[in-house]
Amino acid sequence: DTRKETRGFQTEARQLLHLMIHSLYSNREIFLRELISNASDAADKLRFEAVSNNALYEGDGDLKIRISFDKDAKTLVISDNGIGMTRDEVIDNLGTIAKSGTAQFMQNLSGDQKKDAQLIGQFGVGFYSAFIVADRVVVTTRRAGAAAEEGVRWECSGDAEFDIETVEKVDRGTRIELHLKDDAVEFADSWRLRSIIKKYSDHIAIPILMPKQSPLGEDGEVESEEEAVNTATALWTRSRGEVSDDEYKEFYKHVSHDHTDPLTWSHNRVEGNLDYTSLLYIPARAPYDLYNRDASRGLKLYVQRTFIMDDAEQFLPLYLRFIKGVVDSNDLSLNVSREILQKDPNIDSMRSALTKRVLEMLSKLAKEPENYSKFWKEFGQVLKEGPAEDFANREKIAKLLRFSSSFTDKADQDQSLDDYVSRMKEGQEKIYYIAAENFTTAKSSPHLEVFRKKGIEVLLLSDRVDEWLMGHLSEFDGKSLQDVGKGELDLGKLDSEEDKQAQEKIAEELKPLLDRVKTALDNEVAEVRVTHRLTDSPACVVVADHDMGAQMRRILEAAGQ
Ligand code: ADP
Ligand code: MG
Repeated sequence: DTRKETRGFQTEARQLLHLMIHSLYSNREIFLRELISNASDAADKLRFEAVSNNALYEGDGDLKIRISFDKDAKTLVISDNGIGMTRDEVIDNLGTIAKSGTAQFMQNLSGDQKKDAQLIGQFGVGFYSAFIVADRVVVTTRRAGAAAEEGVRWECSGDAEFDIETVEKVDRGTRIELHLKDDAVEFADSWRLRSIIKKYSDHIAIPILMPKQSPLGEDGEVESEEEAVNTATALWTRSRGEVSDDEYKEFYKHVSHDHTDPLTWSHNRVEGNLDYTSLLYIPARAPYDLYNRDASRGLKLYVQRTFIMDDAEQFLPLYLRFIKGVVDSNDLSLNVSREILQKDPNIDSMRSALTKRVLEMLSKLAKEPENYSKFWKEFGQVLKEGPAEDFANREKIAKLLRFSSSFTDKADQDQSLDDYVSRMKEGQEKIYYIAAENFTTAKSSPHLEVFRKKGIEVLLLSDRVDEWLMGHLSEFDGKSLQDVGKGELDLGKLDSEEDKQAQEKIAEELKPLLDRVKTALDNEVAEVRVTHRLTDSPACVVVADHDMGAQMRRILEAAGQ
């Protein structure tokens, strides 16, 4: 179909557009970052496809982004010679919101302009942010390898519909023409544009060209000379000392599509047996789909600076799925695929090296309690999957875990196992914990009475994953972890000789009572015994040592088992 037609936007897309065009934002300049980011992605995609089909370059492998403006016409043009789009791709990519992240953004809208404007800053809404500064946008594009007659023109004035028609476009790639709103004409300015590019897009690996500034430039003469405004080398190939914190942060936003600053990062070049560079980030905020195990995860993979794939999940274990960043290998073939990655033993050694790197980054972060608690709130639950998945690093991960504890009696999970061990009582051999369905239940459990009386600390666990975690941790620093709600309570050396004798005497005296209770409860319980766990409550139910924990039992029950 080559006709000109008018189509309606998908509902969410229409709402988003409306919001963009009608609201006032303080941070309007981010539209340029989004459009440049897309142009850079388009260049990456072309490079990748050209690995197996060099003809896609059409004789021009010199990838770049161009920015120009016309103050009088109030237009701003961003063009690239990247992969371009077919007619169908334009309809799909620019007419609907495919990214679930943006859909999530829409759900978070409050209707309060100020709050929503902040949200836009956080989520970054990609292409549609063009409408923050423009009231009309014209996209002309042609897919690499398609004929010049297969160009596409898309036009939209920010309302419910867009026009689309097939046109001729000689040069491949995408050209985005913004018709600036009256109050956004400030962006048709060389100095302004350059400073925005420097600020947000310096890390982009291909040149971002602008007309050279000449003193005669004001007379309206066409200036033909161009110069790159950005540094135009892949950021991770530069040495650490040359990259500023702000540059690292902007690069994070580009690769992660997250618009909040990361908590920290680690940039390393590894030479020798395997030769690769990694740049790993710990985000400050969890994506909405963190718990969906099929959600996109993993690093962006480059081979010798050429983009190969997003979500290369082979480079990190699942419990580190929140890590974002880039790995650039000099050893892999440009034709590498997911299947090949899965079989390559070199990938296993890279994976364990990168895993180590992340765990080190986390233990460094743990020395900044305020930042670490931010991390823990967002990702602690996922890290708790670690000991089960990564046996070899069990002890390292264990040091990174944080718990609530009867020591603070607060719901905040901020106590480490090392903290616990340092407070263990003389003669205490085990690390005690209790698992319950919520913090309050854990905290007020009758099982804790004797521990409180003796001043022995108990970890208070109430996350779904906790029992799973404890099942795989079982030991820390040579001390076993003991569920105080399970089995016979043996406080070992913590009970004095007199205590023990007194306990035995009581048990002897109460034997007839125990027998009567057991008969009365018939088959409901396996055993009735005198307990020294309790100081105030008269009785409690415990499960045998090897039985499922109460928490696990509840989870299975909830799952209908
Ligand atoms: P995202 O970049 O996160 O995917 P955007 O809203 O920024 O979301 O862009 C939507 C889609 O439109 C992109 O995924 C891409 O497929 C397409 N697109 C946008 N700009 C370009 C461009 N300059 N060249 C080719 N495709 C583009
Ligand atoms: Mg984008």
